[in-house]
Amino acid sequence: MTDARRPARFGAVEAGGTKFVCGIGTASGELLDSIRIPTQDPDSTLRAVERWFQETLLPGETLAGLGVGSFGPLDLRIGSPSFGWITTTPKPGWRHTEIAGRLQRTLGCPVSIDTDVNAAALGEQRWGAGRGCESLAYVTVGTGIGTGIIQRRLPIHGLLHPELGHAAIRRHPADVDFAGICPFHGDCLEGLASGPAIIARTGKPMRDLPPEHPLWTIEADYLGQLCTLLVLSHSPQRIILGGGVMQERLIAAVHERLLQGLGGYIEAPELRDPAFLTPPGLGSEAGIRGALALALP
Ligand code: ZN
Repeated sequence: MTDARRPARFGAVEAGGTKFVCGIGTASGELLDSIRIPTQDPDSTLRAVERWFQETLLPGETLAGLGVGSFGPLDLRIGSPSFGWITTTPKPGWRHTEIAGRLQRTLGCPVSIDTDVNAAALGEQRWGAGRGCESLAYVTVGTGIGTGIIQRRLPIHGLLHPELGHAAIRRHPADVDFAGICPFHGDCLEGLASGPAIIARTGKPMRDLPPEHPLWTIEADYLGQLCTLLVLSHSPQRIILGGGVMQERLIAAVHERLLQGLGGYIEAPELRDPAFLTPPGLGSEAGIRGALALALP
């Protein structure tokens, strides 16, 4: 039975292309228990998620809410018949998959869903490197490139949600021969600068490239262009850079490229503060604690 003295439990799901991380936590952001479930086909994966919550909660206990930060694209249009579904993902088997509605039915609690990056941005704002910022951007550079944007303390939605990782960018002069790997656009930002794009060129992940490898400069150039676009379009007070590709040594070079990209046209002392670009304060927990932040009222 639910113990009235026990603080309410909130659920969190970080739904990723290679793993689903599930967690149970409290309203203060403390994560009490968590598990990683490898991403298989949608039904097996979601069944494993549901089973874990059912087995981990006390008998008779229900979640006060569940937050889901998911890979996308997602349908987040309020009132849409496919609200909370993954839509046009290139991930095999996952196109047009219902997530939020299904978990709401099986777990019997309110579900709040957003993109994985919007969720991480929210978690960073609440408990991490974005504390004190009304507006911020969270960029993850890993298997893809995602951008979550918070304005006035709320994740940005609109027609759908921002997908700046697929923006077209200017080619670095030393990188004109690589075709890019995005199945939709070829040489968009994700097609040129994501983890798989680096491996397609070099056979190695970014962290294993020697410091003199030209790709460090090329990568910093592309991510600097992304940060320039973010400052020009959304004027964030801070940009948080995470993900497996985003080694800390890249940040200073990305910052330099950002200032070049702005060309002195946008001026604010904060832009030159080294803390303007920062790694996630929540480290590898940014995603799951972001999902927890989504669950909270
Ligand atoms: Zn693309």
